[in-house]
Amino acid sequence: MASNIVLVTGAAGFLGSHLCDALLSEGHQVVGVDNLSTGNLNNLAHLKSERRFFFEHTDITQSFDPGKVDYVFNFASPASPVDYLRLGIETLLVGSAGTLHTLEIAKKYGAGFLHASTSECYGDPLVHPQVESYWGNVNPIGPRSVYDEAKRFSEAAVSAYHRYHGVNTHLVRIFNTYGPRLQPNDGRLISNFMMQALRGEPLTIYGDGLQTRSFCYCSDLIDGILLLSKSDEHDPVNIGNPIEWTILECAKEVQSLVGVGSEIVFRPLPQDDPTRRRPDITRAQTLLGWAPKVSLREGLERSLEYFTACVEREKAHI
Ligand code: UDP
Repeated sequence: MASNIVLVTGAAGFLGSHLCDALLSEGHQVVGVDNLSTGNLNNLAHLKSERRFFFEHTDITQSFDPGKVDYVFNFASPASPVDYLRLGIETLLVGSAGTLHTLEIAKKYGAGFLHASTSECYGDPLVHPQVESYWGNVNPIGPRSVYDEAKRFSEAAVSAYHRYHGVNTHLVRIFNTYGPRLQPNDGRLISNFMMQALRGEPLTIYGDGLQTRSFCYCSDLIDGILLLSKSDEHDPVNIGNPIEWTILECAKEVQSLVGVGSEIVFRPLPQDDPTRRRPDITRAQTLLGWAPKVSLREGLERSLEYFTACVEREKAHI
């Protein structure tokens, strides 16, 4: 992209804010919108005096018009299981009405469009590792369905705007991602384990800890997303780190990094918690020349300072 005006929804979120940084460093003007239901303005505080960045408090479930934009990145949604279970109806709305509203903006201004989809589209997958051609194994009425089905509806809507209106759309299926600016209390595995280890508390493992996930560091993910946004690819592309960890192995990695002898305690497994997850990234490799570079150890090291500051703020009751 030459220098453009780019709309980012969910700009105050973990990934949205990293995306804003990356777009600004590529020379674009960025209009960031967020309703701050799970986003946090602290994630954008460093952009206060950035003249090419504009923030608007906007709820995209209502029709809105940011003015002429050249590209739309649709990243607005509660994303951690704790948040989307708490905000179930809001999650359904942002992943349906919200996505349609942002697609209308792309259609109106002839803008490119990239939607943040998710590995949750595969549900509890029966195909392993997950390839993009797999349609998934999702419980449409279970607790996680507010997120999974909203994201699947969004994929249908994005595909339809490409098919019927010729919008230049892109779909990224994002696998578990971590790094600085994760909300410390979002209940996710990496945020929970880092916060617990740094507080000297036991690490909570849900179920037997043998379920798996594959963890991608945020800078790797943003690199892949930017490449996809500039490509001619309209079908979904997995972006994630294909190295698979059991939850127990991941707990041990966090313990060895933080270096304290915190215990491990076992808690009940949430309903419909996927038993395994690992991206097949062949399409990202061949279409985009992308592969992740940051190991889990290195990514956790890069996140340590951020989580340490979160624990210190907590202690000071800030
Ligand atoms: N998990 C865990 N302990 C925690 C938080 C999460 O054992 O304190 C497990 C959770 O049950 C799941 C995995 O870690 O199997 C990843 O959970 P997360 O909430 O990060 O996201 P998910 O991949 O399920 O969307």
